[in-house]
Amino acid sequence: MPGFADRLNGIGISASAAMTDKATALKAEGLKIISLSSGEPDFPTPEHAVEAAVDAARGGDTKYPPQAGKPALKKAIQAKFLRDNSLDYALDEILVANGAKQIIYDAMMATINPGDEVVLPTPYWISYADIARLGGAEIVQVPCPAASNFRLSAADLDAAITPRTKWLVLNFPNNPTGACCSRKDMEEIAAVMLKHEHVWIMTDDIYEHLVYDDFNFCTLAEVEPRLKDRVLTVNGVSKAYAMTGWRVGFCGGPRDLIAVMNNMQGQSTSGINTLAQAAAIAALEGPQDFLRERAAEYQTRRDIVVSLLNEIPGVECHTPQGAFYVYPDISACIGKVTPEGRQIKTDADFVMALLEEKQVATVQGAAYGMSPFFRISYATSVETLREGCQRIAEFVQSLK
Ligand code: PMP
Repeated sequence: MPGFADRLNGIGISASAAMTDKATALKAEGLKIISLSSGEPDFPTPEHAVEAAVDAARGGDTKYPPQAGKPALKKAIQAKFLRDNSLDYALDEILVANGAKQIIYDAMMATINPGDEVVLPTPYWISYADIARLGGAEIVQVPCPAASNFRLSAADLDAAITPRTKWLVLNFPNNPTGACCSRKDMEEIAAVMLKHEHVWIMTDDIYEHLVYDDFNFCTLAEVEPRLKDRVLTVNGVSKAYAMTGWRVGFCGGPRDLIAVMNNMQGQSTSGINTLAQAAAIAALEGPQDFLRERAAEYQTRRDIVVSLLNEIPGVECHTPQGAFYVYPDISACIGKVTPEGRQIKTDADFVMALLEEKQVATVQGAAYGMSPFFRISYATSVETLREGCQRIAEFVQSLK
């Protein structure tokens, strides 16, 4: 057989996608699966966004779009950055792509040379690591321990940066922990990054609107304007507006970086689907009140999940202030055996046995670089969450 590219070595299907696939296969066998593995809002896309896409299709908005995004969408994004983040980006400092994921891909591919390092506060969303490795970079982890609520320490960050560092990736609210970064912590991170002028900084703000307990979101370029010419502010409509399938992500950043990212895009996608762009304009320019209502609903679910999990001896769950994940510690379960005789040596063993013996789909902490933990997504109904937590409790209590 003809061979494959060396750059793919070590890059696999993401653990959460693998778990979702396995759960789907078990469902097809007729089992009732409780799915807590997928990072996707269960709310519908707002009706006005759907209608804008339909109108665009009927109105003939079906030709190639400008590669960097339609001017009307870039204007909506410009207004969003001003409204929500007090960030003033010119239109040629904005790029639209097929999801925040493609923004991240474009940025890394346009900048990384083999041997460069990418610093990832850990645990981290797995795609940062795989995309960086595709580009030939090495990953440098900076542990953000559970004991400090998964916060990034500025001193630890400082110690991780070397002359080879190309990127620091910040993601607060965080996937998988839900951790948020206070303005004071962000100022300390900014002070460190001001010293390291050779490093680009990506802030993935995709969970910006999913914050709880009156937490005030902030983003790096706003907190420290002197960093703005090295910061790529990444966002999208997937999570806040429940538009994962539309594939619209965007960023604001320095003009030269945006230009090379746009070149990357020119040789891969030629820009994004015109109808999805019309829907994204409507989402960004339409009513924003429902964001708060949905966040209140997520907060209720978070409280239920955290309290049910903490009732289980052997599971320790922090209370995150953002995103829609919890990341409980299951150290006490490691080394035990399930009723069906499965050995729990790792968090991967734990989640696989939980799926096979109790039909609850979650994701192992190993996928995010910090073990032994597992990730639960609470972007699902309260009823599903109660049932899922009940089954997790039975499973953990059955371990010997
Ligand atoms: N960043 C993070 C932290 C995510 O969790 C996700 C979705 N799982 C993305 C980016 C991807 O977002 P999009 O759908 O816009 O590609």
